[in-house]
Amino acid sequence: MNLIKTLLSLIFPLECRICKKTLEAGNLTYICSECFAKIRFIEGPRCLKCGRPLRPFENRICKDCQKEKRYFKRIYSMGLYQGVLRETILLLKYQRLKALISPLGKLLLRYCQENLKMDDFDLILPVPLFRSKKKEREFNQAEAFARIIAKHYSLPLSQGNLLRIRDTRGMSNLNPEERRRNIKDAFLVSKKEEIKNKRILLIDDICTTTTTVAECSKILFTAEAREITVLTLARTIPKI
Ligand SMILES: [Zn+2]
Ligand SMILES: [Zn+2]
Repeated sequence: MNLIKTLLSLIFPLECRICKKTLEAGNLTYICSECFAKIRFIEGPRCLKCGRPLRPFENRICKDCQKEKRYFKRIYSMGLYQGVLRETILLLKYQRLKALISPLGKLLLRYCQENLKMDDFDLILPVPLFRSKKKEREFNQAEAFARIIAKHYSLPLSQGNLLRIRDTRGMSNLNPEERRRNIKDAFLVSKKEEIKNKRILLIDDICTTTTTVAECSKILFTAEAREITVLTLARTIPKI
């Protein structure tokens, strides 16, 4: 299959979906290496718990994390949801360009290597999609990246245990309180024994207000997980 694609790309060269330059022969990922190299890991002072940029007069832990109970230990995000990373995630999500999973996955593995202690996890668990949404999109990208991490670090991957039992579509227009209400009781753990006493790395694609990963963490905590750490591919830039 890839050989045919490679041959076709020689006859009908593909163009980079971002800068429109002709892709080098054999590059089947839809994005040229120069564009891809523009993806940067998140930098700058961030809350050591939820990962949002710290405001003036905040030190190490943001005000929200000091005020509210957090069921996760920490949220890590690879990059900001902007520029090439945002475009790439959108192409993967809505145009189903699955060839982008591999280069993004490699980048995520490098991020893990540099920022996380992977020995600290017993189980990799992706944030699930609601059933009809998964059908619509054909795949869950959080699951695709979770699989790459699990395979690389020889860790078990939890599949189909954490379930999304309610459709929570269209959260982008809701305020934080409405989001919280909308997501409440949207998840369920079906086999508690897989979760109990485990140090879990919870994977999602984009982290916006942390509502989704916070709710998943709460459910996992209720199922007696020992510790929950969150890793997302991208983080939206909050309005300060
Ligand atoms: Zn390009
Ligand atoms: Zn925080």
